[in-house]
Amino acid sequence: MAPTKRAKKPAVASAAASMEVVDAVTGNGIFSRLRERNPDPKSELNYSNPFTLLVAVTLSAQATDVGVNRVTQQLFAVADTPRKMVELGEDKLRDMIRSLNYFNTKAKHVAELSRQLVERFGGEVPRTLEELESLPGVGHKTASVVANVAFGEPCIAVDTHIFRVANRIPLVHADTPRATQDALEARVPAEFARHAHHWLILLGRYICKARKPECPVCPIDDLCRYPEKTAGA
Ligand code: SF4
Repeated sequence: MAPTKRAKKPAVASAAASMEVVDAVTGNGIFSRLRERNPDPKSELNYSNPFTLLVAVTLSAQATDVGVNRVTQQLFAVADTPRKMVELGEDKLRDMIRSLNYFNTKAKHVAELSRQLVERFGGEVPRTLEELESLPGVGHKTASVVANVAFGEPCIAVDTHIFRVANRIPLVHADTPRATQDALEARVPAEFARHAHHWLILLGRYICKARKPECPVCPIDDLCRYPEKTAGA
């Protein structure tokens, strides 16, 4: 999401703008803006099916999407299904993902979850959160990303970016990522729930950055109530 300079706000807000601010309290105004700019947001992880998405998300803990994409380009060329991953084996898998943090643990998890997908689910990735979370190394966040991105479920997985952004705007007041996810899922209007995860992650990654948010170019600068917003140059 490239920053775009918004037009300066008029001194006197129009009735429509006032309504928009009121609407922002429920998230409607905010998500309408984000949808306007990016109607069909996509994951920045490369994947070709639910299995490769599950593997990519599992590998992405404490790693950048660019770093994950670098290793999966080679990995998915030889193992893009659970059966092929089992055939590849944990040792070769470990060698291929050695550049990532926690590659030992990640190799174990991916090898074992692939084996379980073959044995328990006929080689398919299951759709429910409960089934996904029963796989090794798959927590609520990973399961929510897969359910949302691969199967269109209205799950709003919360990573460090979404935790920060959602509590800054604020869309929610929550102390932990899980509480933030629960609160977002309870209050984000249904029409926005499908893409809320990606809109917020992209906003956090490229504009509402941790150390210095780029408020002057933020598409929701006039709707956000973060008290430490940055000023323009
Ligand atoms: S206005 Fe600033 S603090 Fe608010 S969401 Fe945008 S970048 Fe973040």
